[in-house]
Amino acid sequence: MAIPVPRDVMVVGNELAVVWDDGREDYFALEKLRRACPCAMCKGEPDLFGKVYKGAERALTPRAFEVASHRRVGSYALQIDWGDGHNDGIYSFETLRRMAAEGG
Ligand SMILES: [Zn+2]
Repeated sequence: MAIPVPRDVMVVGNELAVVWDDGREDYFALEKLRRACPCAMCKGEPDLFGKVYKGAERALTPRAFEVASHRRVGSYALQIDWGDGHNDGIYSFETLRRMAAEGG
């Protein structure tokens, strides 16, 4: 089954609105989206023994939950430039749909 792709992505207030090409619309709270950043630094990477090391925990400023810009990455993901300059996280459409299914 093909994964739906966003037809439109926009920031509405403190949410990211995604209109999918299958007609669904999902709204993601920016703070939740940022805290779910899938990059290695935010999420941590398990070592050989399965222990997860995370990068230095940085206090997130309010700007961390602002979207400076966003762009599509290929045909499978969305990259977000956060207000504090962080943009390592690539949110695959599959991840976004799963987050939406779990309650946005
Ligand atoms: Zn990150």
